[in-house]
Amino acid sequence: MSLALSGIGVSRGVAIGKAHIILRGTVEVLESAIPKHLIEDEVARFLKAVNCARQQLEDIRVRIPENTRVDIAAFIDTHLLMLDDATLVTTPVDLIREHGCNAEWALKLQRDAVVDVFEQMNDAYLRTRRDDVDHVINRVQRILMDDEDQEDAHNGGAALDNAIVLAYDLTPAEAVLLEHQGISAFATECGGPLSHTAILARSMQIPALVGTHGLQRYIRDGETIILDGLQGVLIAGADEQTFDYYRERQELEYQRQLELARLTDTPAITRDGMSINLMANIELPEDIDAVSRESARGVGLYRTEFLFMNRNNPPDEEEQYDVYVSVIEALKGKPLTIRTLDMGADKQVDGGNRICSNPALGLRAIRLCLKNHSLFKPQIRAILRASAHGPVRLMIPMLCNTQELHQVLSLINDTKNALQRESLAFSPDVKIGGMIEVPAAALSAADFASQMDFLSIGTNDLIQYTLAIDRVDDEVNYLYDPLHPAVLRLIKMTIDAGVDAGIPVSMCGEMAGDPRYTRLLLGMGLSEFSMHHTALQEVKRVINSSTITSLIPLVQELLDNTKPGHIPSRVDSLNHNSR
Ligand code: PEP
Ligand code: MG
Repeated sequence: MSLALSGIGVSRGVAIGKAHIILRGTVEVLESAIPKHLIEDEVARFLKAVNCARQQLEDIRVRIPENTRVDIAAFIDTHLLMLDDATLVTTPVDLIREHGCNAEWALKLQRDAVVDVFEQMNDAYLRTRRDDVDHVINRVQRILMDDEDQEDAHNGGAALDNAIVLAYDLTPAEAVLLEHQGISAFATECGGPLSHTAILARSMQIPALVGTHGLQRYIRDGETIILDGLQGVLIAGADEQTFDYYRERQELEYQRQLELARLTDTPAITRDGMSINLMANIELPEDIDAVSRESARGVGLYRTEFLFMNRNNPPDEEEQYDVYVSVIEALKGKPLTIRTLDMGADKQVDGGNRICSNPALGLRAIRLCLKNHSLFKPQIRAILRASAHGPVRLMIPMLCNTQELHQVLSLINDTKNALQRESLAFSPDVKIGGMIEVPAAALSAADFASQMDFLSIGTNDLIQYTLAIDRVDDEVNYLYDPLHPAVLRLIKMTIDAGVDAGIPVSMCGEMAGDPRYTRLLLGMGLSEFSMHHTALQEVKRVINSSTITSLIPLVQELLDNTKPGHIPSRVDSLNHNSR
């Protein structure tokens, strides 16, 4: 019998393949008393489980492919070190002997004590190590409990050719790894369309669903399933007719890609002759190949935080400098917009979750960098030094007041002076811009515009903060609405502030790459869009069929009338009539 589960389609495309289920979550542990004469056997059972966990990790380590995009080995080494640590090994043995309890319970007691210590720590980075403790302890617990499902999200690096991964949740780092292992699609129970994992899926062109409830209950590991990333549906037990339908959809998608590919070398110019700057967003230096293939005019957003993930120590100045220079050189004279570290919330350095009740509102992005100069300064130095090799724009994420901007500008100035003293080259023309992604910044866009060289609207966060909806929480996803009048007003305000100050305003959130909003944004005066390279040709197709002069009055009318349903229906008619 066939079964369809609905989810939120976050990356289009159809995949047909075998389900690969990754069960995770916390391990339920029960206490039991061990008779005195069996205590040493229990200790031996515990030590054997620790050894087995160590062996598992060592096996995984040797199987990591050499060209893996992120430093997974360092991630595994951290876990191996923990298995050698007395806190996780000797103390549980003492607890077994002291309390006469089972090994699982002793390990749980020790876990709770260690987690307590981590939670007291003020240092955000150290607090995130708590997740490593949990990962290691869960591994040992599962061995003790003889749990057959001990797999890591990345299956230890083994090939997963064409598998469709079904998981409770995936971090961006895990998604990168799984892609490397050849999966054809993934679906998760958690997550929202703007989570970084979803964004990554689009940039890797892997069909994906998030918020797909019931995956673990209804789908069997290894059964052939269909995942439709456009319609947001996952089908199991399909009949031949359904398979035929989806094979045809796969073919149509392929044809669509071919058709769009023909637009690659056509410039983006509206019918009335306005040239639009189409730029690409990148997460990893490797993405540059695709950016060049799609003839983007440059990079409008380089999310540097991906360079900092899945490793024990942040990259130093030299490492960052080398990476930035390699990207600049690959762009052959096209501009590179390097966004300074936007870490925190759903993007963690080590792939874990920060212990913080409200991470999206917490110490993230520029707030974190201004608090932690040892993290920020090497990046500023590396970006400035790299600017000697080609056009670079430095972009600051999550600005919320101009004091933050002043602090960054003064740090940049000091860094330039220091570089000069050290006779290290940099371009004096590096443009400094800021992201407008907090409502307060949009409302103060004129203040920011008068002090910066460019602005870029980050709609993912701007929508999250304006509508007070966590972008990774699927429970409130129904409220996510780029067409909310408040969101549109903030966008318009920012564009107008840029025009008044005579500086360029770009948009680099997901809204910029969604062809449903292209005409609306053109009519609002936006002339620079930055998006995943996969969306470039589709957006270009809309631009090249639009006439700005007729869009401007229509969009103004649309913005002036906020009756419920009016804006979406007008946007629809903008898209469906020839403009
Ligand atoms: C945004 O918020 O729109 C944005 C582009 O930044 P990120 O998605 O990396 O937070
Ligand atoms: Mg953002």
